[in-house]
Amino acid sequence: MRILITGGAGFIGSHLADRLLADGHSVIAIDNLATGHTRNIEHLAGHERFRFIKHDVTEFVYVEGKLDVVLHLASLPSPVDYLKKPIPTLKVGALGTHKALGLARDKGALFMLASTSEVYGDPLVHPQPEDYWGNVNPVGPRGVYDESKRFAEAITMAYHRYHGLDTRIFRIFNTYGPRMRADDGRVVTNFIAQALRGEALTVYDDGSRTRSFCYVSDLVDGILRLLAAKETEPINLGNPTEMTVLEFAKTVQKLTGGTSELVHVSPTDERTKDDPQVRRPDIQRAREILGWEPKVPLEEGLRHTIDYFRRLFDEGGR
Ligand code: UDP
Repeated sequence: MRILITGGAGFIGSHLADRLLADGHSVIAIDNLATGHTRNIEHLAGHERFRFIKHDVTEFVYVEGKLDVVLHLASLPSPVDYLKKPIPTLKVGALGTHKALGLARDKGALFMLASTSEVYGDPLVHPQPEDYWGNVNPVGPRGVYDESKRFAEAITMAYHRYHGLDTRIFRIFNTYGPRMRADDGRVVTNFIAQALRGEALTVYDDGSRTRSFCYVSDLVDGILRLLAAKETEPINLGNPTEMTVLEFAKTVQKLTGGTSELVHVSPTDERTKDDPQVRRPDIQRAREILGWEPKVPLEEGLRHTIDYFRRLFDEGGR
């Protein structure tokens, strides 16, 4: 197949590109490099079935030739990024999704939307099944991301219902692995970078909020199973193993040598406003429809991720 990935130089997009190329497909990666990085795809330079186009998906997108699938991953998914860049976040979720849908429709391609657990907001139902409509504050700082993805889901379903476009929606829960950005401000990268630099790990507030962390190869596997399935309704893709942020900090501390301290800090900016108190995917639908569940244990995935950042920092990367 010939597959276009928006956000193809990003963390998840580049892993998808690797896997699709390994499976024999052709990949066109589009990225404006706002949060993606060419180092994630430099090993693909010169690959005969890979092409990179630097382009902002909120602007009209066109590529020559047939396309079988448009995988729309372009996004600013880190809270720190979307708090700093609220308008580009809204634009890529809304205008970018519209353009990517238009391209898929023009080409008669399958359209796959990367959505998010943030559509559930600060959830009042736990764990979160797909039929939970969520608890989102539209005017809070996270609203720019949450609502842009909720709009993206709505317009995807509208293209499906009104234009008959073949579509898929997957809701990604906290995913981690090599090629995340060290400065993306997320808990995984903050803790690993802090530990490797000999700094204290910054646990926000009392560290009692929970998250469930999925290794990137498991997520990629789920996305490719969904590509092959005939399922239009949204599907959660995440690891149901839930832990508190404090437990997570202790795990990173242990795996990086056990010498870093943990400090509790309470950010005074908007970083923790409307921060979901708990998050864990209900993956019953993914199990039943895709025969999928995550396989990589947290410690194993974290070791790969820590090794990646150790190498990156050794080479002078940031
Ligand atoms: N967090 C933390 N210390 C950090 C960064 C994040 O305690 O240095 C917390 C954050 O408040 C949230 C959780 O870790 O409760 C996960 O945050 P992240 O930014 O990774 O993504 P989110 O799941 O909120 O989208």
